This record gives sequence, structure tokens and C-alpha cells, in this order.
Amino acid sequence: MHAYQLTEMVEAVGLASKLPLQGVTMERIENPELDRLALDHLANLYKIKDKREGIHLSTLVYCLTRSFFDQLAPVEPTDEEVMLFALGYGLQDVLTPTGAGKLVCIKDGITYSPDFLLKLNGSLGEIKTTRMSSKTLEDHLPETWIEYIMGGCYIREETSYNLMVLLMMGNYHPPFPKIHSETLVFEEQELQANWDYLLGRKEVYEEALSSNQPPQPFQWCKDWECKFCKYRLQCQAMEMVAKKEV
Ligand code: SF4
Repeated sequence: MHAYQLTEMVEAVGLASKLPLQGVTMERIENPELDRLALDHLANLYKIKDKREGIHLSTLVYCLTRSFFDQLAPVEPTDEEVMLFALGYGLQDVLTPTGAGKLVCIKDGITYSPDFLLKLNGSLGEIKTTRMSSKTLEDHLPETWIEYIMGGCYIREETSYNLMVLLMMGNYHPPFPKIHSETLVFEEQELQANWDYLLGRKEVYEEALSSNQPPQPFQWCKDWECKFCKYRLQCQAMEMVAKKEV
């Protein structure tokens, strides 16, 4: 590079750095079309609006009333739900260990697919992303995770399961986020008891489908599931009607 070119560049950079941003006139115009483009892309990419065939392990672990509505009278996911699912799936894709295998199994009419099979020993693995604090996770794991993982162990006739958690907010003090992994080990009797519990829920769900009557709202879910549920108004209305009829 010639000396005069270098001088010109230095001068140009110097000049640019002195430009007063306060003098820039910039309009900020909301662009909902671009939001929609991104949301539709994510919903299509991760098939968030598609109805799943068959009874999945997660269908039985989470609210049965919601599973019923999703199957027979689905409401479009909200934009917030699309973002939550897409973030979870996207991060799961990125975090899945290289070479990890995939698998789909069916037992007693229940479909199960672990997030990954570890390359080293073929053991099962689950990836979770959460905004929960790492301190909360240290104290206890969510019941739904445990029921699902135990169901997976039962189906695969394994007693241990690898869990990898991306704590997006760490412990809510910098630095965050954080990865936490652990291997969960169960007794065979515990796995059997959990499976019996899941089969009981399957009966309720199948009965609801065949009678076209949703399982009673607020009876087949964990409390936290209702908080941001898209069927909440529907469930509250059903509950009010049921109370009037008593
Ligand atoms: S509001 Fe609660 S009971 Fe109703 S579908 Fe949602 S999670 Fe289930």
C-alpha cells in the first residue's frame, strides 16, 4: 500500500469517527411484516402448527385436556408459543452432540423419541432449555421432565438417562447462560410405577378421544401449565358450566 493511500485511509477513519450521531435523522418504522415472515418461517421449520399422529410420551406427561384440544379442536399457537418452541428446538439442534443418533420407539401404543443417543455407549439423552434459575434446578427437576425421562427409560429398558440443560439465564447473576448436565439413575420398581401412572393417563386420554369429551379441565395438568395456556378461557368456561350443572 502506498503511503499516500494509508494517509487517506487514516484521515477517512478519523473523519468518520468524528461524525456526530446526534445529527443523524433516522426514522424508526415498525415492520410487522418482517416479524410475520420470521414467525411463519420458524413455525414451518419446526412444524409447530402440524398435528402429531399417535399418542406420544409427551402427550401423556403434559396436560391431557390440552392434548385433547390440540388433537380435536386445535387453536393456532400464539406468536409467543411459536418463539418459545422455536428457541427450544433451535438450541436443541445446536447442542445435540456430533454423531448422536436418533431413534423412535413405540411401546404399549406410546411413541417415544429421545433427543439423542450418545455415540459412546448408545445411552439415552435429553436436552432441555429453560429460563429457570440454576439454583432452582439444583434443588429439584420439574416433575414433567422426570416422568418423561422415566417413561423413556422404561420403553428402552434402561435405568439411566443423560440430561443436558441449557440454563438460558444461568443463576440470574452474570455471567450467564450456563450448561448443566447430569445422569439420572432409577430403580426398576420406580420405572414400573411411573409407567403404570402413564398408562392410567393414556386410558383417560383415549376415553376422552373416543367420547369426544375433553378430560376435565385443571384435573390432569400441573398448576404451572395453565398460566399461559391458549385454552385457558375455554377451560374456565367449561368449569363454570360444570359448576352450574351441579
Ligand atoms: S388451561 Fe390448564 S387445564 Fe386447560 S388445557 Fe390449558 S393447561 Fe390444560
